[in-house]
Amino acid sequence: KPANDCPADVETLGRSTWTLLHSIAATYPKAPTWTEQNDLKSFMKLFSKLYPCWVCAEDFQQYIKKRDIRAASRDEFGNWLCEAHNEVNRKLGKPTFDCSKWEERWRTGWKDGRCD
Ligand code: FAD
Repeated sequence: KPANDCPADVETLGRSTWTLLHSIAATYPKAPTWTEQNDLKSFMKLFSKLYPCWVCAEDFQQYIKKRDIRAASRDEFGNWLCEAHNEVNRKLGKPTFDCSKWEERWRTGWKDGRCD
């Protein structure tokens, strides 16, 4: 494993990026304004073009074309993002994540209190 102060490989970049994206979902309003919804969609579309892993970016752009970004509420975007992440998990042969638990993982912490 390379030291911490080396350029990010695809895995490190991916983990950090999912942390950012799911955290954006966690703090997204329950009832976003039209502007907030548009900002989020624009951000995700630009993100999918700029993501510095070109195969990843290409596939993610295709995914967004196939499954329109859903941003009408925190719940909607959180689930949309969870499904998008699961699509990448499947592609990489990783286990899929139970999307009914995305808020426990990324917003509230687990019900057993281990994040408190
Ligand atoms: P990650 O997949 O990074 O997940 C981090 C944590 O998120 C997990 O430990 C788990 O607690 C939680 N989690 C897992 N699944 C979900 C979910 N569905 N919803 C919510 N939380 C979840 N890598 C490639 O090799 N090829 C690619 O084409 C590729 N495309 C990518 C596209 C995007 C947009 C991003 C952000 C990353 C991509 N990656 C790709 C990186 C890849 O997804 C992983 O980040 C990397 O392989 C490290 O995986 P990991 O096992 O540490 O967990």
